[in-house]
Amino acid sequence: MASTWVTGGTVVTLGSPCRVIPDGAVRIDGDAIAWVGRRVEAGEMTGEVVDAGGGLIMPGFINAHMHFYSTFACGIALKDAPPTNFKEILERLWWRLDKALTLDDVRLSALVPLVRSLEAGVTTIIDHHASPHAVRGSLDVIAEAARLAGVRTCLCYEVSNRDGAAIAEAGIEENAAFLEAQRGGDGMAAGLFGLHASMTLDEALLARCVDAGRRAGAGFHIHVSESKFDPDDSVARYGERVVRRLADAGVLGERSICAHCIHVDDAELRLLADSATNVVHNPQSNMNNAVGRADVPRMLEMGICVGLGTDGMSATMLDDVRLVNLLHKHGTGDPRQGFTAAGRLLLENNARIASRYFDKPVGVLAPGHKADVITVDYDPPTPLSADNLMGHVLFGLPTARVRHAVVDGRVRLRDGVVCGVDKAAVAAEARARAAEVWARF
Ligand SMILES: [Zn+2]
Repeated sequence: MASTWVTGGTVVTLGSPCRVIPDGAVRIDGDAIAWVGRRVEAGEMTGEVVDAGGGLIMPGFINAHMHFYSTFACGIALKDAPPTNFKEILERLWWRLDKALTLDDVRLSALVPLVRSLEAGVTTIIDHHASPHAVRGSLDVIAEAARLAGVRTCLCYEVSNRDGAAIAEAGIEENAAFLEAQRGGDGMAAGLFGLHASMTLDEALLARCVDAGRRAGAGFHIHVSESKFDPDDSVARYGERVVRRLADAGVLGERSICAHCIHVDDAELRLLADSATNVVHNPQSNMNNAVGRADVPRMLEMGICVGLGTDGMSATMLDDVRLVNLLHKHGTGDPRQGFTAAGRLLLENNARIASRYFDKPVGVLAPGHKADVITVDYDPPTPLSADNLMGHVLFGLPTARVRHAVVDGRVRLRDGVVCGVDKAAVAAEARARAAEVWARF
């Protein structure tokens, strides 16, 4: 088998220890990294050589909480007065938009951000999907779009009571069927069992989902206390706060993801830490919805694995990582906050979280890891080392172009152009389709 080489730049391995190797090289055999080191030690490079053009060679970024279905929200006109709180945002925007989607809309809704993700160097995405009037087959449609683009995905369907028993049942079946289909798969797609949120899952449905998820051997992916409506609802209806309720139901665990966790108390943080449950922080979305600030510094202090997602707000991770740095400084009034957290979320914990779902670990350039490698046209204006990498990620990389992306050992973005999808055709098709989606909205 011929190898693929990525070379002609400075290799940043991430992982522990993170190595920065000037004039480095990465050898890929099949879907995995086989060797990382200095170019002069690489020997003869046979096979395909991907040239970084003097830039950075690093692991592809990971988005740990995404909603592909949000694509058609861009530019949409709401039909009611502007929402005054999070519940109204759900009712007047998201729960109307997702009901307007057909399976073909789901496909386009995924392709647009998949292309943008590759252009932004994002090679693995953990998505949380809803299309209540096109549930069956929706995860397969997204997985197929992701395969076409060449992005690694971990998918689920968010089950809830909000659209009645039949649609809830279809959601359970969609999760179960997709999880079953991924068994022994090619490592490009994986599944979680999706749950919308505590406030849209009654006791009977939550128990049904936990039972089905456990039978499939899956972790759960759920929104937790994104706004105060969630804990208020849980206390009023079940006499306990959301994380306690989820712990009692059997949702927590090291394979599960609780997105947001903004309105949680100390006892709930302890439950998340003790169960090794993953939390995913989405600062851009939280600021956009005016729902508050998750206490990420405290979570990290308690040993919780907190990752970073975009919650459908954008395809690049570099907007949100900058906001981790800014939001926690702004929110605490303490300029020491945010900087360290930003690096841990994006560069360490997202790899830990995503690596739980695939047959090989992702997010680090080291032998045995998935060959998800990007090159970035970044010519640092100051020296770059493992110690000051985060300064470059926050203040230099966001304006640098991603030149190449190799995913699972295959070149998927070459010279800034996505290989597997006609970007202009997808955009044109989505634009034409948006009129129909908006008419149904
Ligand atoms: Zn979300």
